[in-house]
Amino acid sequence: MNDNVMRGRRLDGGSRAPKTYSTERLCASTGCDTKLSRYNRREFCFAHAPVKYPRLRGRIVSTEA
Ligand SMILES: [Zn+2]
Repeated sequence: MNDNVMRGRRLDGGSRAPKTYSTERLCASTGCDTKLSRYNRREFCFAHAPVKYPRLRGRIVSTEA
């Protein structure tokens, strides 16, 4: 019986380090220095998270100050 069809690959992933996040990550938004939790995988702080904006009836709201 040859049962090595499903073998030959170990799943201990030697070459790939687990993805970790540094403890000091800041919001990716320019000028925002809000720190992100290392457990927060998002790039932006809560305020800058690319949320779905409410429907604005087709109007484009400028964010320029
Ligand atoms: Zn931010």
